[in-house]
Amino acid sequence: MKRQIIQIDEEKCNGCGLCIPNCHEGALQLIDGKARLISDLMCDGLGACIGHCPEGAIEIIEREAQAYDEIAVIKEMVTKGENSYRTFSTFEGPPRVWLFKARSKMDARK
Ligand code: SF4
Repeated sequence: MKRQIIQIDEEKCNGCGLCIPNCHEGALQLIDGKARLISDLMCDGLGACIGHCPEGAIEIIEREAQAYDEIAVIKEMVTKGENSYRTFSTFEGPPRVWLFKARSKMDARK
């Protein structure tokens, strides 16, 4: 499918890492000194990371990419420790997972 997704300009990226904690889905990692999108599945295309890059290295483009997969994001986040998520039960349905970073993004929209 064609959709919006981030693109990192390797020439502009200085490897400062400021974008990493500001990707609420954990889709960015520093690899060989450069920020990399580790999986199309984990980028929701909203671009919360863009404003945190001092080099202007990140932009949103439209290209063929796998659809954003919230389950893949949750699977990655649970590997980062219990401070990254909490589960809670509702009266109906299975336990839900709450990503703390995701809540920060929602708060920022207010
Ligand atoms: S914030 Fe920008 S310059 Fe820093 S690692 Fe991320 S993409 Fe590279």
